[in-house]
Amino acid sequence: MEDEKQRFETRAIRGQMARTPYREHSTPMFLTSSFVFPDAGLMSDTFAGDAEGIIYSRYSNPNTDELIQKVCEMEGVEDGFATASGMAAVFASMAAFLKAGDHILASRAVFGSTHQILTSLFPRWGITFTYVDPTDIGQWEAHIQPNTRMIVLETPSNPGLMLTDLEKAGSLAEKHGLILNVDNCFATPFLQQPARYGAGLVVHSGTKWMDGQGRVLGGLVVGKAELIEQLRFFCRHTGPAMSPFNAWVLSKSLETLSVRMERHCENALQLARFLEQHPAVARVHYPFLPSHPQYELAKRQMALGGGILAFELPGGFEQGKQFLNGLQLCSLTSNLGDSRTIATHPASTTHSKLSEAERQAVGITPGMVRLSIGLEHIDDIRADVAQALGRT
Ligand SMILES: *Cc1c(COP(=O)(O)O)cnc(C)c1O
Repeated sequence: MEDEKQRFETRAIRGQMARTPYREHSTPMFLTSSFVFPDAGLMSDTFAGDAEGIIYSRYSNPNTDELIQKVCEMEGVEDGFATASGMAAVFASMAAFLKAGDHILASRAVFGSTHQILTSLFPRWGITFTYVDPTDIGQWEAHIQPNTRMIVLETPSNPGLMLTDLEKAGSLAEKHGLILNVDNCFATPFLQQPARYGAGLVVHSGTKWMDGQGRVLGGLVVGKAELIEQLRFFCRHTGPAMSPFNAWVLSKSLETLSVRMERHCENALQLARFLEQHPAVARVHYPFLPSHPQYELAKRQMALGGGILAFELPGGFEQGKQFLNGLQLCSLTSNLGDSRTIATHPASTTHSKLSEAERQAVGITPGMVRLSIGLEHIDDIRADVAQALGRT
């Protein structure tokens, strides 16, 4: 962990906790709710914060500490906290900093449950928001109010794969003294590091690409030390902590994040190119296709195009569902970021509660299909998608 010159891949593997007296090679699991002290003096010092030490797994645990440290190194930030799910991380990253009367400037294309927090829960506590166009950051400044405290965004967005310019978001946040809070779940730190552009908080659903195999739920908030200190206080006393078992799984998964993401992105790019040439497909959305309206921005702020693509079928709602019914290899499930390729039809599932106009505003057409590209052989993925298109 000490060697600043080690590369991303090396740190993801070698950034593990100190070995125990058993000299294990791979990190063991610490399935214990609390930790003992040799005497009352050290116990009181630790509780007072005058001595370093793990007290209770709601606060910290060797497995969550290892995971947090790895993610901090990957994101280039100082500190973090691990939560039981991505949504616990999203919620804590906002609730820990906001009070009644505060205002959030939010990209309109946020994750569905983030939208529910903003629209259904926060208003009950007097916290308001304004939605802005993720792709048109020049318009954002006009919506900043004297009580605005935070900018919340995701890039690339789900499922429309719209991008937000992180450099411009960072400058805007700095100019107005706002916390920039970026959900980096779609890109992962292997492709994009929002803290480089001034994000004070970076949020993850570990459930997706980080685990990458659809086994566990988990979330992380990482960022600037003084912000995480405040967040840690909030989380210690409200209790959204990640289980040590899930932290162990996720820390192991990070060892292969780079090789998995390279293959996910390569498969996705190949499939995006195939779909773009296919006569049955009206439009393909993938950040690293030159036809993406923000291709230049994607190349600037992302190392690769990501594992998610979306495409539009001209026959609308029914054709989107027909396509899903025609698939034989790909899974129909709402998750993403798995070794198995996953297909969803946002208009009939994840985004069915939105009105047609709300869907349009975030780029979801009735015939849009989202694919989370897995690690199966690209020829098999392509063959399944091709035969399903033939049945629509
Ligand atoms: C899935 C997801 C979340 C929520 O994560 P959970 O682990 O399911 O709670 C938040 N943001 C984005 C972008 C996601 O894809």
